[in-house]
Amino acid sequence: MLSSYSHSALGTYRSCPRQFKFRYVEKVKVPRKVNVDAYLGNVVHRALRRLYTLGADGILCPLDDIIDYYRKEWEKVDRGALTVVSDYYGVDDYIRIGQEMLITHYRKYQPFDRGTLLGAEIRLPFVLPGTAFRFTTIIDRLTKRPDGTVELCDYKTGRQMLRPQDPAFFFQMGLYQLAVAAAYPQLERIELVQYYLRQDEEVRHEMTPEELDSLVEAMRLAILETIQAERMDDFPPVESGLCNWCDYFDLCPAKRHKRLLGELERNGGGELTVEEKAAERAERYLELDQKEKELKAEKDAVKGELIDLARELDATKLTAPSGEINIRLKREQKFVTKTDDAGAFADLSFAVRQMGADDYFVLDAGSFMKEVYLRGRLTEDQKKRLERFVVEKESARVTTKLYRQDEDDES
Ligand code: SF4
Repeated sequence: MLSSYSHSALGTYRSCPRQFKFRYVEKVKVPRKVNVDAYLGNVVHRALRRLYTLGADGILCPLDDIIDYYRKEWEKVDRGALTVVSDYYGVDDYIRIGQEMLITHYRKYQPFDRGTLLGAEIRLPFVLPGTAFRFTTIIDRLTKRPDGTVELCDYKTGRQMLRPQDPAFFFQMGLYQLAVAAAYPQLERIELVQYYLRQDEEVRHEMTPEELDSLVEAMRLAILETIQAERMDDFPPVESGLCNWCDYFDLCPAKRHKRLLGELERNGGGELTVEEKAAERAERYLELDQKEKELKAEKDAVKGELIDLARELDATKLTAPSGEINIRLKREQKFVTKTDDAGAFADLSFAVRQMGADDYFVLDAGSFMKEVYLRGRLTEDQKKRLERFVVEKESARVTTKLYRQDEDDES
């Protein structure tokens, strides 16, 4: 268990558990790559902090000064150390884009004194309500408007604009709101605002108490998942475009074999090295795996046809020259799963937790349905609360019998 969690730590676990292990569990020391997008974000954030901090004291920093400050921040970094993955953009393009963002923002929001500045880039630790899990957040800006509403602001310099219902907005901004509510319980109304500097847009949202409850539950489950992974030492690498920016690329088990093969000199016909043997066996496995997938796809398609035909014939057994196939169709009540609807699943798990039955539910939701929900072991109120999370699903059990030998295939 980590001593403190953050939105980005849990985001790292979601995108690649192995990277999470390198960074937060093993705390491997490697030279950090400086991604040009991230550096652009940092420099723009620093310039905005300056503008708003001065603005709060009634001082308007001249545009030329802030641009000068911004450009000097870029001089502090070794350009050669910046990672740029685009074929079309160079560091100068990033500097220009950041400058344009600042100028647009400056013209629209000067003199940066709308309300009382409660803090800029403030670090707020808090404990996730109802748990012992600690979080650390850094909030770009907290401003109290004249009507008493507190704006919790986050600046974005990326290309993607989120909506309040997007998980990335919901989780990040919701955690920030929990942090502010814990640190300043006297603040009654909080509005979450993301400023998209590239697009010159704002996305605003006020979270309901139900949304916050659901967020707390989702965070609790996400942390439990990382603890379970730690217990089982199960942190699989998940490769994606993010690998190009990964600080642990050279250590990653998903990249190791390819790297070692690349380092090998071509073997002149002697005995295969371990790396070469692994490559040869991997090739054979790929061939077999492909064949198996083709067969499985064909088998699944035929199975679907058989189920439809059995339905049409109103038959539970289909007979073939060499054997028979039993088909049992069943409609069952099941709880909504994370795959069906992640939001509904988080609400369900929160409701079950409030009933004090979350251990049972987390271990085996199927048994909880059969042994508790369907057997009437809940009070009327409890059952009513869970009803909206119950869905009907059809399952088909298909078993085969060869006249010469028996073989079962179940699904
Ligand atoms: S290189 Fe890719 S797969 Fe490996 S740890 Fe990094 S992000 Fe994960």
